[in-house]
Amino acid sequence: MVWENNVRKVVPYVAGEQPKKKEIIKLNTNECPYPPAPAVAKLSAQMDTNSFRLYPDQNNESIVNALAEYYGVKPTQVFAGVGSDDVLSLSFLTFFNSDKPILFPDVTYSFYDVWADLYRIPYKTVPLLDDWSIDVEGMKQENGGVIFPNPNAPTGLFTPLDKVEEIIEANRDVVVIVDEAYIDFGGESALPLLEKYDNLLIVQTFSKSRAMAGMRIGFAIGNEKIIKYLNDVKFSFNSYTLNMPSQILGALAVKDDAYFKDITGKIIATREWTKKELTGLGFTFPDSKANFIFASHKSVPAKDIYNYLRGQNIFVRFWDKERINNSLRITIGTDEQMRTLIAALEVFLG
Ligand code: PMP
Repeated sequence: MVWENNVRKVVPYVAGEQPKKKEIIKLNTNECPYPPAPAVAKLSAQMDTNSFRLYPDQNNESIVNALAEYYGVKPTQVFAGVGSDDVLSLSFLTFFNSDKPILFPDVTYSFYDVWADLYRIPYKTVPLLDDWSIDVEGMKQENGGVIFPNPNAPTGLFTPLDKVEEIIEANRDVVVIVDEAYIDFGGESALPLLEKYDNLLIVQTFSKSRAMAGMRIGFAIGNEKIIKYLNDVKFSFNSYTLNMPSQILGALAVKDDAYFKDITGKIIATREWTKKELTGLGFTFPDSKANFIFASHKSVPAKDIYNYLRGQNIFVRFWDKERINNSLRITIGTDEQMRTLIAALEVFLG
């Protein structure tokens, strides 16, 4: 068809599977195995559905204010969106507008190249070093912007803050986005660097450490100018993004810090236990500071383990993709789920 010549053709990102079956152990999309903060359930049950007649607050004030208070920044330094995917995609559109290529690691969140292609942003991938760490020197070549997750996905490796600062320092004439989707599992946020660097944008999410993937809430923190630019693009695209329940319940979740620390602490402890067990079974992995482990077995191909686990109703993530096709990304679930996983692996590998 001739009209197809004018279509913006893209190869979409492939998200992890959301199986319909209930009786499975779901360790494939880095969700939180614990429920959201108790106040979220309580208020959901009492929600005034009549208010759904109205559009939600287009400035997302309740959640922006709650986040500003929690992180000790001004509300004008916070931007909220429909999951960090929304925030990241708008950030690509807003800040990566140069003829020079943007830079990101070759093994990283596989949505980055999709957004770059969608928006026709030139990009160059910087290969990870042999130990899976980010090549800081490689991030210093000429570019139109920089983005990387910290900890990186799917490796789980955390880049120390002095290295993060080195990357920002070397790229002061472009925007550097640090995607901190997994920062709450033992990493150290780049937030303190905001005072020094006006080209830094930090993006986080409620999907992992705040147990609210289904509500789709993400946010960015930066200086006021950078947030204003982001809002200008958002209001040129879609004024009403976060729906009303997400705004209200998200703000409530931020206020329960004790619960947040409890569930992230539990996930960290379970992760460390799982690392020991996996090592005992002959797996190796980069030392994750995220809510997942990226593991390869010394003799059995990842694909075989993946298929076996699937047959046992245990879902983990596998990519049949160069460089990472002998690794499984295993989300950290509850202790019980991880014990079941390890027991199944013992049967298969033993
Ligand atoms: N960044 C990274 C590195 C991720 O792994 C994910 C999860 N797929 C996201 C961002 C997006 O998460 P969400 O849109 O649920 O906030």
